[in-house]
Amino acid sequence: MGSESNMVHSPMLTYASMISLLTLCPPFVILLWYTMVHADGSVLQTFDYLRQHGLQGFIDIWPKPTATAWKIIACYAAFEAALQLWLPGKRVEGPISPTGNRPVYKANGVAAYAVTLITYLGLWWFGIFNPTIVYDHLGEIFSALIFGSFIFCIFLYIKGLVAPSSTDSGSSGNIIIDFYWGMELYPRIGKNFDIKVFTNCRFGMMSWAVLAVTYCIKQYETYGRVSDSMLINMILMLVYVTKFFWWEAGYWNTMDIAHDRAGFYICWGCLVWVPSVYTSPGMYLVNHPVNLGVQLAVYILVSGILCIYINYDCDRQRQEFRRTNGKALVWGKAPSKIHATYTTTSGETKSSLLLMSGWWGLSRHFHYVPEILAAFSWTLPALFNHFLPYFYVVFLTILLFDRAKRDDDRCRSKYGKYWKLYCEKVPYRIIPGIY
Ligand code: NDP
Repeated sequence: MGSESNMVHSPMLTYASMISLLTLCPPFVILLWYTMVHADGSVLQTFDYLRQHGLQGFIDIWPKPTATAWKIIACYAAFEAALQLWLPGKRVEGPISPTGNRPVYKANGVAAYAVTLITYLGLWWFGIFNPTIVYDHLGEIFSALIFGSFIFCIFLYIKGLVAPSSTDSGSSGNIIIDFYWGMELYPRIGKNFDIKVFTNCRFGMMSWAVLAVTYCIKQYETYGRVSDSMLINMILMLVYVTKFFWWEAGYWNTMDIAHDRAGFYICWGCLVWVPSVYTSPGMYLVNHPVNLGVQLAVYILVSGILCIYINYDCDRQRQEFRRTNGKALVWGKAPSKIHATYTTTSGETKSSLLLMSGWWGLSRHFHYVPEILAAFSWTLPALFNHFLPYFYVVFLTILLFDRAKRDDDRCRSKYGKYWKLYCEKVPYRIIPGIY
């Protein structure tokens, strides 16, 4: 990965966006938490507070990472790492890396997910640990995660420099780019503990489910009941995360794992941004027990599940197509496809297939449409009193439109004329007929 491969935008814009994300994301996480938990979800209220109290006011609301927060994080991280290492699972091979390696994984995500949720609910049920403690220390936990994950990313940078796990590693020559995008594609501790599987899946995505449940329990313990809005939000988030773990081995073929290196962008994002921003609609609902009524609740639930299913089916279709070497039927018919060839960085010529039927014939990244709509549907229970619960949907839309561009550029340089042909046959990038 040279620096140019990460500069699909101009170098100026790339540096500016890297520096601003590095500096603005941490305070944003704290402001988001503060607004959701202490300012009634109202951006105006937080804004007023900051106007009156200035920088000192901001420093005052930034919680210090406490011993309780560190303990919660350490227990959770150690538990997830142990499950990742020791739960049984099928041996799965990842895609061939740019330098021609093939990483091997243990597919035990569903088991880890089930054990995690059962343990968490069990601890609550038997009065051993009350999840409301997590909610009550959320600010301190996010604060600890912000600093802890930053240090972890420095560790990743140094590891990439002095002890890379594979040949899929290297410097771009610029320390900021290396820290931000990462040095290694598949960093491991020992032979088997894959760091990106841990940060992205077992810590990040798992925390999403754990926190969705936490918010629900907090509302129950505060109000003595769970509102239908909270229930719909939690169910849809859990369906989404369940789908994720069901398909986790497929995730190991996606850009996050196969192309984005382990740096601030992906690892800090999964360790901090996912537990805070991704779960934020539920965080808002804790103190806003909106009542939707059965009809609206069912309508939102069904459309949300449909979106999650379509998103899953897009990913499944592509993976089945590749797995069966283009032989699997797509929407009941033999798929149209492109036999593409490309050259790895070590000079080997490899072949690959591009699907032009089914969802992948509608647009080149159609799967992002149901992904965004699913996020909208688990936010909708918050109704429209405040904008902030919708921040995740807006963020996701920007992220995925940017990602579609990054992926198109990467595929164009990987596949050359074959990608051009695919673009001619499937001209729209995301929304059929529009974009
Ligand atoms: P994918 O990695 O699944 O798809 C892109 C890759 O697929 C390309 O790099 C290319 O890789 C291959 N490809 C592209 N076109 C074709 C084709 N026509 N036929 C076959 N293969 C093709 O994309 P993402 O990682 O972006 O998304 C995976 C899932 O994760 C989606 O469901 C998405 O919605 C979700 N997601 C969620 C996010 C969130 O924050 N909630 C963020 C990002 C993704 P190759 O080099 O193998 O050819």
